[in-house]
Amino acid sequence: MGCTANDLVTALRAAAATVEEHRVELIQLDRAIGDGDHGENMDRGFKAVLAAFETNTPDSPSAVLKVVATTLISKVGGAAGPLYGTAFLRASAAVKDLDELSPADLGRALSAALEGVVARGKAEPGDKTMVDALGPAVQAAKGDTAAELLAAAADAAATGAEATVPLVARKGRASYLGDRSAGHMDPGARSTSLLLRAFAEVAAR
Ligand code: ADP
Ligand code: MG
Repeated sequence: MGCTANDLVTALRAAAATVEEHRVELIQLDRAIGDGDHGENMDRGFKAVLAAFETNTPDSPSAVLKVVATTLISKVGGAAGPLYGTAFLRASAAVKDLDELSPADLGRALSAALEGVVARGKAEPGDKTMVDALGPAVQAAKGDTAAELLAAAADAAATGAEATVPLVARKGRASYLGDRSAGHMDPGARSTSLLLRAFAEVAAR
């Protein structure tokens, strides 16, 4: 049995709960090397996604991902809104016309999400951005089940986010700090790892 539109909505509810739970942590990470709004941006965006599901029940995985994309793009300011929005939009396009997603489809959706972030933000690995969590996640996203694949992706994203700590930022607001950006985890890499962990936990239920 593959991942249905309903399963995806459940995963996004879990993601929204995780973002709410880690709101202050994300604010503090962004305060250290940015402007301190990342936790607020993400919380507002995912609350708006939940509200969108109240009024509009998308009936395919692709449609669910598209609602997430358009909501994040319209409701989340800063760099992260358009970047995550593009990620979900590309993921939506990658699974167009499918009623259920196999593990391989999930892998394709993750790859497409990464391509979207890179197309939009032009960050390379090691630039201290969300790419440093999502890139390793895509590489690691393998498994016979959605739970296995997403757990591997979430583990790699967590390791990738930790590995941003010593890096000097070369993209986004944190890059204005130059060498002073070293010594802090990138907030976007952290939020990517939190989202993937929430998806993996739902898939494991
Ligand atoms: P802003 O930087 O506009 O305040 P946020 O604080 O919401 O927006 O998001 C900051 C995060 O966005 C960073 O931690 C980083 O992970 C990500 N980011 C910023 N610029 C880029 C980029 N060009 N490519 C990929 N990710 C980026
Ligand atoms: Mg910010």
